[in-house]
Amino acid sequence: MPLSLSRKSECVMQSEIRNMSIECTRAGGINLSQGVCDTDVPENVRRAAQAAIDEGFNIYTRFDGLKELRNSLARKLQRQGITANPEGEIIVSAGSTGVFYSACLALLNPGDEVILFEPYYGYHVSTLRAVDAVPAYVTMKTPDWTFTPQDLENARTSKTRAIMVNTPANPSGKIFKRAELEQIAAFAKQHDLFIFTDEIYEYFVYDGWEHISPLTMPGLRERIIGISGLSKTFSITGWRIGYGVCDAKWAQTLGYFSDLVYVCAPSPLQIGVARGLDEIPADYYGKLAKEYQAKRDKCCAALEKAGMTPHVPQGAYYILADTTRIPGKTSKEKAMHLLKESGVASVPGEAFFHRPEDGLNLTRFCYAKQPADLDEACRRLERYGRR
Ligand code: PLP
Repeated sequence: MPLSLSRKSECVMQSEIRNMSIECTRAGGINLSQGVCDTDVPENVRRAAQAAIDEGFNIYTRFDGLKELRNSLARKLQRQGITANPEGEIIVSAGSTGVFYSACLALLNPGDEVILFEPYYGYHVSTLRAVDAVPAYVTMKTPDWTFTPQDLENARTSKTRAIMVNTPANPSGKIFKRAELEQIAAFAKQHDLFIFTDEIYEYFVYDGWEHISPLTMPGLRERIIGISGLSKTFSITGWRIGYGVCDAKWAQTLGYFSDLVYVCAPSPLQIGVARGLDEIPADYYGKLAKEYQAKRDKCCAALEKAGMTPHVPQGAYYILADTTRIPGKTSKEKAMHLLKESGVASVPGEAFFHRPEDGLNLTRFCYAKQPADLDEACRRLERYGRR
């Protein structure tokens, strides 16, 4: 056998998002393709992490994270109406990405199918493939990204083992409503499925929409693996702090896999987040949502003027815009045309659908950007619209 990469290496091939970032640098464009969230880290979070290094929090932590962080996460969850025991039901890992990968290793066998709503977040698909699980898709219908109970049934087979609910969702910005979550809950109960959640954008909610955590819904705790993290909320994507909440039956093994792959999330940064969560002013989250709503509105207005009607997101910080009028035979060609002609990079719609043609007339913009960059990107888009 000649030397070669593994068959699984396909799961980690250069993603379209990273590709577009490279193309953007090459073209000297403004990068609205990647969710880098380069807004300021709250001061108390920064200071607490710095102090933690001096206080000696520099060694491996327990497999499920530092007690300080698990306790403050339990308090945070309690404020949201979720009771979770910090000794056994909360696992800290390397970002929500680390939690999901560990959960898949702990709970899925090769060939198990997991239902994803599309447009989807590409890492969910790749993570499933990396553990030899098989993604199945429920394609949500525009304009409101809806689905029916029949859609769920159609995606199910005898091998279906779980369903992923990302709310607020990347890239659609959809916030799952209570009635939809109830449909998913009934479906999961009927067919004995796990529910994975990805609630990383829980505080990025607009226009009075409310994030409902599936963890708050009755009768589901045994089957839910609730996943979130602080990457986005505190603008600390590089710190790698996320957590999972689930029944103790699953948590320990999930934590053992997290230990195997990551050993632990960075110790002083766990302290930074723990103290940050306890000390952050109560109005921080509301202000964050307001700040991002203003960014959303600015970006949507610029897209309208550029002739790309936006699907106005209810949450998260991405906008899928209609590229019907942009020349190109594929969504990639359209995104490249836009980059070349306007100097703004976006992610072609095909990155979010299992059938590339479903994303043909969509491109995704991220507005988690510093105001000056966002202003310049909007000016460029408007200028493009005037051509
Ligand atoms: N989940 C979704 C839906 C995301 O969009 C992202 C980042 O873009 C992540 C998870 C990554 O989160 P973390 O930094 O906690 O791994």
